[in-house]
Amino acid sequence: MSACIFCKIAEGEVQSQTVYEDDRVMAFKDLNPAAPTHLLFIPRKHIARVGEAAEADAELLGHLQVVVGKVAKDAGLKDFRVVTNNGRGAGQSVDHLHYHLLAGRRMNWPPG
Ligand code: 5GP
Ligand code: ZN
Repeated sequence: MSACIFCKIAEGEVQSQTVYEDDRVMAFKDLNPAAPTHLLFIPRKHIARVGEAAEADAELLGHLQVVVGKVAKDAGLKDFRVVTNNGRGAGQSVDHLHYHLLAGRRMNWPPG
């Protein structure tokens, strides 16, 4: 049994408001949304952060990114931001690779 909260979500052990899932990836609503639309996209496989992805993960992470685009399109989103935090100093609080999809408000650049 994994101690990782996102592994638990991927295994169905912890509930989430899932908006997309297949055999390799999942998307669900963020518990503490930072924008009107705030989704998290994860690989089911535990990879701690993007900086720890291996060449063998390339197809999986390519698929994950395509799913981000499809889910955004299906939700009718035109302007949105996709971001991943790598390391505590960059704001990462859950050590399971995830892309945030944020939309529904003005996005500033550069991000804080
Ligand atoms: P990070 O800070 O690592 O970039 O992003 C982690 C995100 O996961 C945060 O936005 C936080 O609100 C969200 N989060 C943490 N625990 C849970 C949970 O159990 N369920 C859901 N749906 N989101 C979570
Ligand atoms: Zn995990």
